[in-house]
Amino acid sequence: MSKKIIIAGPCAAESEEQIEIAVREAGKRGVDFMRVNLWKPRTRPGFEGLGEDGLPLLAKVAKAGINPGLEVIMPEHAAMAMKAVLPVLPDGGQLLLWIGARNQNHVVQREIARVCAADPRVVLMVKNQPWPNEAHWEGIVEHVLAGGISKDNLLNCHRGFAPTGDNPQGFRNVPDFAMMDRVKAKTGIPVIYDPSHMGGTVPNVFAIGKMAAGQGIDGVIVEVHHDPANAKTDKTQQVTWTEFDELLVTIFPGR
Ligand code: PEP
Ligand code: MN
Repeated sequence: MSKKIIIAGPCAAESEEQIEIAVREAGKRGVDFMRVNLWKPRTRPGFEGLGEDGLPLLAKVAKAGINPGLEVIMPEHAAMAMKAVLPVLPDGGQLLLWIGARNQNHVVQREIARVCAADPRVVLMVKNQPWPNEAHWEGIVEHVLAGGISKDNLLNCHRGFAPTGDNPQGFRNVPDFAMMDRVKAKTGIPVIYDPSHMGGTVPNVFAIGKMAAGQGIDGVIVEVHHDPANAKTDKTQQVTWTEFDELLVTIFPGR
């Protein structure tokens, strides 16, 4: 089995203490990237992340030998994260930046890619848009490629689509594996699976994880918090680090 890409960590960076704990736990597990999310678009206004105040946390994580990952909403965010991280990134390290599901301005997507393309240590991940539409999803990939990012530095993320039909289990978003396979075949970009934003609750994150076993996914992004009950965002879907270990076995039996 080829090596899977593992991205894990809290929904949002909240404090130095929380990130220190996450660095320790992520380090023990040798994750490829840790979520250190500073800018959080929210369904309704609320805690929208530490923003620029959190940039030193990115550097701290990188210096600890863990590759940081975060969402960027604007090209300026990408530039700020790169400025904070790249000078202190150990040899062989990488910075993961991603474009979230809500960020569907193609001009902004292309400009973010243009900023990322300036340094080969930056990996850009695009998440599918919230509504099911194959052409739109492929279009996101095409727009960021048009911005100059190399295919080798690009990841695609399936975070599910808003439910349009029966949804007896109450998933927040539902996967479409057939579409995912077609987009992967057409674009040639590896697919990262996001059970957290599909599940919405911990039992559903596990159910969504189970559905992915044996599917053509190349990695996962999972929200993990040391104290989910007191998380500032997405508290119902963040798993503990122990649950994360169980979830990985569910998704990748025999990994
Ligand atoms: C996230 O990954 O933090 C996130 C908000 O997910 P999405 O953009 O898929 O909703
Ligand atoms: Mn979240």
